Amino acid sequence: RALNFNAGPAALPQTVLEEAQKHLLDFKGTGMSVMELSHRSKVYEEVHNGAKLKLKKLLTISDEYEILFIQGGASLQFSMIPMNLLIDESVGSYVLTGSWSEKALKEAKKIGQTQVLASSKDQQYKEIPSADLNKLSQDSAYLHITSNNTIYGTQWDTFPEVSVPLIADMSSDILSKPLNVDQFGLIYAGAQKNLGPSGVTVVIIKKDLLKRSNDQLPTMMNYQTYSDHNSLYNTPPTFAIYLLDLVLEWAHSEGGVEALEVKNTEKANVLYDVIDGSKGFYNGHAQKDSRSKMNVTFTLPTEELTSSFLAQAKDYGFVGLNGHRSVGGCRASIYNAMPLDHVIQLAEFMKKFKSLT
Ligand code: PLP
Repeated sequence: RALNFNAGPAALPQTVLEEAQKHLLDFKGTGMSVMELSHRSKVYEEVHNGAKLKLKKLLTISDEYEILFIQGGASLQFSMIPMNLLIDESVGSYVLTGSWSEKALKEAKKIGQTQVLASSKDQQYKEIPSADLNKLSQDSAYLHITSNNTIYGTQWDTFPEVSVPLIADMSSDILSKPLNVDQFGLIYAGAQKNLGPSGVTVVIIKKDLLKRSNDQLPTMMNYQTYSDHNSLYNTPPTFAIYLLDLVLEWAHSEGGVEALEVKNTEKANVLYDVIDGSKGFYNGHAQKDSRSKMNVTFTLPTEELTSSFLAQAKDYGFVGLNGHRSVGGCRASIYNAMPLDHVIQLAEFMKKFKSLT
């Protein structure tokens, strides 16, 4: 298997792929693949509801929340959130911590009024800015944040306590650590990093927020549709949800989010220790107090060295270490499914590259 450090879609746990492969032609004696099952069948319904239940248990989600499966990626949520929640001349408040939050803001601006409560754009998104919550608009409908900034490699450690619903794009760190869901009005995540393959986006929404959705919204843009029909109003991405179910089962068998956090911290430390011990040869993009445990971003002293590092890394067998085109440098994405051994191999490679330069 490849040493896959891609930012997304990301590597899946090997056992999940093996399990899916085993049942690819015949799922539970049906003589069909999950892909071929009717989404109205009992066998599929068990998978669908099983995935919801497993997520509920893993993240301790109370009955006050609805779990929805929606297509269109996290990017569609940038629009659905303001379409459903930014009503009656209210203001959508945003904290800008990178390209994804900028994109979320851009879509909200098309729907209604917005406010940038804090931004670290002037600091090249190297840090999570501290937001002055007193500046939150009196008419704020919600505060939107991006919990982990996949491109810049920064991550919120603790979340702001606000009187309005807190909304978080957790696409790149959901399920990587314990979470107090009660602190949020809505959490969303494209599955393709920690939850499964692309094709399904998980939305965890507080039930009382569903009341805000207007009947005049296009049916498929209305959260209420998904809630009323158990995300089965139309054909859901059944195979992606099946894999989500398997990934959640795997997460449970790994010891749940507490155990995953321990592993993720260990993996991140292995790489940050090399960066910090390199006397400036490797330079972490993120400020230390804002570092992500999911995406480790760093640069080398020159473009030439970066190219040589990436070329040699590719020859070694590492995949996906190029930094995002908007930041440059290098990025190692080390989501839940990334084995510690692969991270150690990268750390050793980094040390060797430096010593030979
Ligand atoms: N938000 C974050 C934090 C992301 O990392 C990504 C993709 O990498 C997106 C949103 C966009 O997700 P999608 O491609 O599912 O629309």
